[in-house]
Amino acid sequence: MSEQTKKVLDSFKTANRKIKSFEEALGVLYWDLRTGAPRKGMDVRSEVIGELSADMFKLSTSPELGEWLSELERKEVFASLSEIDQRLVTETRKDYNRSVLIPPKLYQEYVVITSQSESKWEEAKEANDYAGFKPYLDKVIRYTNQFIDLWGAGQTRYDTLLEPYEPGMTVAELDRIFGGLREQLVPLSAAIASSPNQPDTSFLRQQFDVAAQKDFSLYILQQLGFNFEAGRLDESMHPFATGLNPGDVRITTRYLKDDVTSALFGTIHECGHALYEQNIMDQLIGTTLCTGTSMGIHESQSRFWENVIGRSRPFWNRYYKELQARFPNLSHVSCDQFYRGNNVVQPSLIRIEADELTYNLHIIIRYELEKMIFNEGLTAAELPEVWNEKYKQYLGIAPATDSDGVLQDVHWSGGAFGYFPSYSLGNMYAAQFANTMEQQIQDFWQLVEAGNLLPIKEWLADKIYQYGKMRTPSELVQSITGQVLDPQYLVTYLTNKYKDIYKL
Ligand SMILES: [Zn+2]
Repeated sequence: MSEQTKKVLDSFKTANRKIKSFEEALGVLYWDLRTGAPRKGMDVRSEVIGELSADMFKLSTSPELGEWLSELERKEVFASLSEIDQRLVTETRKDYNRSVLIPPKLYQEYVVITSQSESKWEEAKEANDYAGFKPYLDKVIRYTNQFIDLWGAGQTRYDTLLEPYEPGMTVAELDRIFGGLREQLVPLSAAIASSPNQPDTSFLRQQFDVAAQKDFSLYILQQLGFNFEAGRLDESMHPFATGLNPGDVRITTRYLKDDVTSALFGTIHECGHALYEQNIMDQLIGTTLCTGTSMGIHESQSRFWENVIGRSRPFWNRYYKELQARFPNLSHVSCDQFYRGNNVVQPSLIRIEADELTYNLHIIIRYELEKMIFNEGLTAAELPEVWNEKYKQYLGIAPATDSDGVLQDVHWSGGAFGYFPSYSLGNMYAAQFANTMEQQIQDFWQLVEAGNLLPIKEWLADKIYQYGKMRTPSELVQSITGQVLDPQYLVTYLTNKYKDIYKL
């Protein structure tokens, strides 16, 4: 490597480290804002976040960064870089191109509009006032279309929106995957609904001591291998996980007096995100590669731990006694009752309250609508009607109000088009990884039943967590399972599970 290249590489890596430092600092500020910052300071804090974000944006679109990238991308120079530096160049280039193609003035307008649109959405959802929200949504769609023009469309215009959330994912691929999923999940959901063997859920509607819930959350985190020296658990309205660096990963949960399962499964879910972030290899620390590789893979980890493990029978065979010991009002509820009650399938209107099976149908509906908006020109005015039709078609129910329908999610108001598919991709990745795990980890389910969960965490750390952004989602799936993403694993997993629970 020439002296000149060394200098360029050094400048490039210093800039990257600075961007990562901004990310960490902003991460702490957001975390603080959502976990107990005094209300009176919130406005000033938002301004501080805005200013720092603008500085970070400037840094990540600077002409120097563009020059360094071009230099490092020269064939012979690139070949002389380490594997980590090569990936750092490739990933930074992707972000750079995306940001630098948007004129700063247009971006600023967009930030203002999405922020107004989010506040308007909150009001509109509260008041069931889609007409009031519609002009804002129109604007957000218009700006997003302008961005697609600037970025250049992929195979279709909507492809361009998928890339930042799930690199390499395309509409053609999602059509194949979601098509297969929908065809099989709709009849399975109908068979479940007409089964005479419906689980009893009455025991879930009791009062559960909050202190005991906290105690059990901490106990389960420790059982799952959450490293308390590199993380903490707090409370917030909407549970979330923030990976500042592998030595500082923070998760939150929410304790409800009348629902023990909200904190329980919420904590396990966020722990899955945390295990990923806590186990990224040291060599990536301080670079922008030190995070999960995509939204879908991140979600596969939270959902693997929450659903595949946390809602399994072997898990509760081991841990139900510990739960009962903390909640005497569960003493009359058998482990089987508890397991089945926590795995009820019921078509519902609200995505975030949906079960493991119908959840995917909520996502497919949103995917199909987003595709219609950007590829076929569906307008904000037409959305509610198509939304309701699709709910009728896929879930057999339609919302009586827009608040329970098209207005229920925040994503579109903030311009997060292309995000929804990640949730279902997470379920599919999780099922496919679990299938490989069952083959490669001896006595997999006996380990779960014995509460010996660390070998599972170590397997995931070895195959997924350590790599951070060093491998793309499709590289991970290929290298771990030897196949491309296949929805059949999720269908088989769900079919087996519910055949047993509903005695189909
Ligand atoms: Zn999640």
